[in-house]
Amino acid sequence: MGTFGCPFAIIDNTMVAVIAILGLVMGSFAGAQVWRLRAWQLLTDKQSGEKLTKLEQAELVRLRPLTSKPLADDRSRCLHCKHELAVRDLVPLISWLSTGGRCRYCKKPIGWFEPLIELSVATLFTVSFILWPFPIADFVSISIFLLWLTSLILFVILFAYDAKWFLLPDIIIWPLLAIGSIFAVIRLMNAPDLVGALTSLLIGLVILSGLYAALYYYSSWRSKGESSWVGFGDVKLGFVLALFLLDWQLAFLTLFVANFLGSCIAIPGLLLKILPRGARIPFGPLLLAGFFISMFWGQYIIDWFNKLML
Ligand SMILES: [Zn+2]
Repeated sequence: MGTFGCPFAIIDNTMVAVIAILGLVMGSFAGAQVWRLRAWQLLTDKQSGEKLTKLEQAELVRLRPLTSKPLADDRSRCLHCKHELAVRDLVPLISWLSTGGRCRYCKKPIGWFEPLIELSVATLFTVSFILWPFPIADFVSISIFLLWLTSLILFVILFAYDAKWFLLPDIIIWPLLAIGSIFAVIRLMNAPDLVGALTSLLIGLVILSGLYAALYYYSSWRSKGESSWVGFGDVKLGFVLALFLLDWQLAFLTLFVANFLGSCIAIPGLLLKILPRGARIPFGPLLLAGFFISMFWGQYIIDWFNKLML
C-alpha cells in the first residue's frame, strides 16, 4: 500500500473502497443464493420422494416462495412476515445495522447470517486486491482477477451452505472446477519449469483430493455403502482447491490448517460439552479456511517454516 499524501495512494485507497463495497453487494447476493439453493434442494428432495424431517418441512414452507418465481421478477421478502423489502432494506450491512439486526416491519431478528456473509465477501475481495501478486492492467489480467473474485463468491456460498446443512452443492462445485481449470492452464503455460509445475499440481491433487477419495471408497466399502466418514463433496472440493493452489506444499498446508482448525473446534467443544458426543463438524468450511490462508499467506508460512528447520 502507498503512503498518504501521494496522489497514487489516493487512487489506491479509492480502489480499495470500491472493491470493498463491491464485496458487500456481492456478499448480499451470495447470501440470497444460499437460501434459494436450500429452498430448491428441499423441494427437489421432497419431489423425489425423500422423507424430510419435521424441521426441514417447516423450513420448506418458509423458503417455498423463493422457488416459485422466475429470477427476474423476484423481489426479496422478509422470511418471517413475507413483507416485500424496499430498497432501503436491501443496502448491505447498513440496513442490518440501522435496524439492530431486525426486520423493519415485524421486528423479528434477521440473524447474523446476512451481515457475516456480506462482511466475509467484502474482506476476501479487499485482501485479494491488496495482496494480488500480478499486475491488474490489461484485458487478460483484469479478466483473471474478475474470475478470481467470482470464485470467491462461489467459495463463500459453499462455506455457508456446508456450515449450515453439511452439503457442498454440485451446482456451485462445477463452475468452480471450470474456473480452477482455466486458472491452472494459464499458470502452467507461463511456468518456467512446466514439468516441475505439473508434478507439483499432481501431488497437490493427491494430497487434497486423492487421499480423501481413497478414504471415501474404503469407508463406503467397509459400511457397504450406508454412510462414510468423509463426504464425496469434500473430495470434489479438494480437487478444485488443488487446481487453484497449483503447488503441493500449499496443498499440504491447506490440509494441515483445516485439520488444525478442526481440532481447535472439536477438542474444547467436546471438553466443555458444547458439542454433543459424535457430533459432526462439516469439513468443507475448514478446508476453505485452510485454502484462503494458504492462498494469501502460504508462501510466507512455508518460508518461515523452512528457515526454522535450517
Ligand atoms: Zn419481517
